[in-house]
Amino acid sequence: MVARRYWRQRLRLTLALATLTLLSACANTTRPGAVGVNRSQFMMISSSEVNRLSAISYNEQNKKAKDKNVLVTSGPMYERLKVIANRLIPHTQEFRDDTRDWDWQLTLIDAPVLNATCAPGGKITFYTGIINQLNLSDDEIAAIMGHEIAHALREHGRERVSQAMAQNLVVNVAMAAAGPYGSAVSVGNQVAHYVFVLPNSRDNESEADAIGLELAARAGYNPMGAVSVWEKMIKANKGKSSPEFLSTHPSGETRIEQLTALMPAVEPLYKVAPKPSTNK
Ligand SMILES: [Zn+2]
Repeated sequence: MVARRYWRQRLRLTLALATLTLLSACANTTRPGAVGVNRSQFMMISSSEVNRLSAISYNEQNKKAKDKNVLVTSGPMYERLKVIANRLIPHTQEFRDDTRDWDWQLTLIDAPVLNATCAPGGKITFYTGIINQLNLSDDEIAAIMGHEIAHALREHGRERVSQAMAQNLVVNVAMAAAGPYGSAVSVGNQVAHYVFVLPNSRDNESEADAIGLELAARAGYNPMGAVSVWEKMIKANKGKSSPEFLSTHPSGETRIEQLTALMPAVEPLYKVAPKPSTNK
């Protein structure tokens, strides 16, 4: 009897795990939008866990910047980014409903770094270096910000952590995160490594390009800004400043071609969108 109960329980557990795996494997984090992004994603960890760990590493980043006196929280450049973020964010609901509950944040760090990120759950970071050295227009900032937000919408970070977990590269993320604050920071940084340090796949980049393009167009920013920003990035890479952005956003030669091919899908959205009055 005991043995039968054991096997019955075991079967129930196996079925539950199989269902969970199926559910995980079939996850698709966003609606396709006008640009038609549609791909099943393999997920082994919950959004809330990844968002929580990413927030810990984001707060650490901001704390370090504040200690070094390079955290910018006011002034023209910060305000400029805030206007663009506030125009882009409402359109994320085109792709998923829950972003209205995200705790969106914006960080500007004064450093000669050619980079920008958006951590899972809507935590945006820009460096003054990328804006100054590439002399970015508002359309181009919107293109970069839209692209980064798109990585968060598609939960590419969660997907990459899941892949690492499947390969046993990250062990017991959830369990370690439940421990003392110090170990949560260390796991947060481990998660950040997969989210920000390792290069994105070509697929993830194409998805972020497409969704970012649509977000910018809907927010009234000229989608052609995405093309000019990549041209600037490629030019900077040939010069003396190698953009950090390119180490995590591999740029194939086909990128500008793909963006150009998507223009007919987003131009009508741009045409009817209210335009920002303060465009630079
Ligand atoms: Zn990217």
